[in-house]
Amino acid sequence: MTTSLDDLAEKALRGETPSREEALAVLAGPDELLDVVAAGARVRRHFFGRRVKLNTIINMKSGLCPEDCSYCSQRLGSSAEILKYSWITPEKAAETAGQAVRAGAKRVCLVASGRGPGDRDITRIEDTIAAVKADSPDVEVCVCLGLLADGQAERLAAAGAHAYSHNLNTSEARYSEICSTHTFADRTGTLRRAGHAGLSPCSGAILGMGESDDDIVDLAFALKELDPDSVPVNFLIPFKGTPLADTWELTPERCLRILALFRFVFPDVEVRLAGGREIHLRGLQSLALHLANSMFLGDYLTSEGQPGADDRQMIADAGFVIEGTDERTLPDARHDLVAIRRRGAGSDLPANA
Ligand code: SF4
Repeated sequence: MTTSLDDLAEKALRGETPSREEALAVLAGPDELLDVVAAGARVRRHFFGRRVKLNTIINMKSGLCPEDCSYCSQRLGSSAEILKYSWITPEKAAETAGQAVRAGAKRVCLVASGRGPGDRDITRIEDTIAAVKADSPDVEVCVCLGLLADGQAERLAAAGAHAYSHNLNTSEARYSEICSTHTFADRTGTLRRAGHAGLSPCSGAILGMGESDDDIVDLAFALKELDPDSVPVNFLIPFKGTPLADTWELTPERCLRILALFRFVFPDVEVRLAGGREIHLRGLQSLALHLANSMFLGDYLTSEGQPGADDRQMIADAGFVIEGTDERTLPDARHDLVAIRRRGAGSDLPANA
């Protein structure tokens, strides 16, 4: 690339987004892989030090989804032999969350299959947030329930949810190729609703679904426009029984270059190593920690992850430390210093005096 990797890292440290040409060169330029990783690692270290934030997923309701996202084992028509069940109880969710928190998880992601929640589902999640917080008061709760209707994000925020997660997954140009039952615009709309309600926006990608380098850059830039606080980077888990079964197009090098690109585009944002890391990065997982500052611990929605003890060993062996609940994940500059007034005139609450 015409811009050196050092210059690209400097730009990221100044909070400047790479140009399209620079972004494409990270994915497929002549620079050696380790040089690309080293440049991204410099940015990661500047904003996040040696900390790794651990997150865990709880699948509140599994399978039998009416939507047709082609990467998903829970989709309409999927014959993947996954666990299928209706809503687990708040108590069961709190117990599972407590185990993860004691193992180092700082965020619990409450996820349910489906197009979007009904109001009764929101009530269930409100009860679940209360149960999780009663057991683990300091844990961040992120909710991921699909497309949100008016007022639902506000209810989740009032119940104590910290974040809302809804991935864009792939570029707008390719979206209709991977899903016909909802649109890219539906997804961006839900992310914006969540953000307006005060929930920390979480949105990321699934790579390895036939996308071009241009699609990856389009997706990264589209995500950037949404200004998320966290960006999960998933690598396709090609479930048998889904349209993308047997799709194996990623290499460890490709995964690392994608993670480096996301670090340059999101220098001070939580970039999370997510589903598929074990099967696609394989022996290079620990190198990915030099780019991502966050990862999932334990199992995914419908597939098993690496044993938690192995993850903790990998983090220690690579010279990183697990982020504590008393530590901030995001750098100060990303914390919103403007608090919308909710008290005093025009509200039922006393004024600040
Ligand atoms: S990704 Fe979500 S909405 Fe799409 S099929 Fe899977 S569970 Fe349903």
